Amino acid sequence: MTSDLAIIGAGPAGLTAGHVAGRAGLDAVVFEAETPGGELVNRDRIENYPGRPDVSGPELRTTLYEQFQQYDVPIVLEEVVDIRDEDPFTIATSGGEYAARAVLIACGGRASTLDVPGESAYAGRGVFYCAKCDGPLYRDEVVAVAGGDDWALTDALFLADHAAEVILFETESELPAGASLRERVASNSTIEVRTGTEITKVTGEDVIDSINVIDSAGRTDIVDVDGLYVQVGIEPNTEFLGDAIPTNDRGEIVTDADLQTETDGVFAAGDLRCGSPQTVGAAVGDGITACRSVQQYLESQTDSQP
Ligand SMILES: Cc1cc2nc3c(=O)[nH]c(=O)nc-3n(C[C@H](O)[C@H](O)[C@H](O)COP(=O)(O)OP(=O)(O)OC[C@H]3O[C@@H](n4cnc5c(N)ncnc54)[C@H](O)[C@@H]3O)c2cc1C
Repeated sequence: MTSDLAIIGAGPAGLTAGHVAGRAGLDAVVFEAETPGGELVNRDRIENYPGRPDVSGPELRTTLYEQFQQYDVPIVLEEVVDIRDEDPFTIATSGGEYAARAVLIACGGRASTLDVPGESAYAGRGVFYCAKCDGPLYRDEVVAVAGGDDWALTDALFLADHAAEVILFETESELPAGASLRERVASNSTIEVRTGTEITKVTGEDVIDSINVIDSAGRTDIVDVDGLYVQVGIEPNTEFLGDAIPTNDRGEIVTDADLQTETDGVFAAGDLRCGSPQTVGAAVGDGITACRSVQQYLESQTDSQP
């Protein structure tokens, strides 16, 4: 059976697109590799979502998911491993093959790594990438944070509620974060900020016990820590596309203003889209825009049939 639309990923972008598609009467199906809700599941607080100030990630996830469920759009809990540009498109998953007239890619991204010696060896043994999941384990301990953007600062504040000391390392000379977050971090006595400083190595025995750092003047230091939280950006989940859908050199999908990719009938929404502000609000907006574009595309296909 051929669906009108296959939505890949059930994060904020995919769930919103699924809701809009169901409401519009499209025969849509959503594929999700893990848990519906995407990154929201891992976020303690979402402070900047319009209309829901300071909502928790899981609470916003529940609201979006319940709204998505108003229409009978199915979620298939299978990972998409390939999309073939055929007529109709073939969606190959961990569980089988499906056909759809249009595809919306909304797979988001995953935490970037530092790529320094010792990081992967101590992943899960002191090095962690989800502050909400692992942060509370470091009660009364010393935690380093790698990264200085809005999300790193938000999570440093969360970690400061649990740890005895949080030391935040940012390679740039100034924190690349919003003014209000910088002020809150500066006035938090549990957080020390070291800008212009790069983490070069992670060491330990069974678990991490220190990190090596170097500052912009070339001075090196070894800092004793019990944990290292890495928040240095997002890698788009686009490897599985291979050459089927073109991506830029950062692996992001390039779209036009209607969120149409270079491949006719394939659209992209959310964090993996080149130029995305990478916020929940933007992902939700993308889900709406992309679904409207899909409708127009499907109508144009129907109109052009003899
Ligand atoms: C540390 C951190 C803190 C943040 N804090 C905030 C904040 O305070 N406010 C804010 O607005 N934003 C915040 N964000 C950003 C926000 O989480 C994202 O912008 C938003 O979740 C993007 O939604 P999305 O739907 O594009 O992708 P995601 O939420 O990443 O969802 C993508 C979904 O696709 C699924 N998927 C991936 N690959 C496949 C595949 N091959 N097959 C099937 N399914 C697949 C994934 O399992 C996932 O469920 C934060 C991000 C980080 C990393």
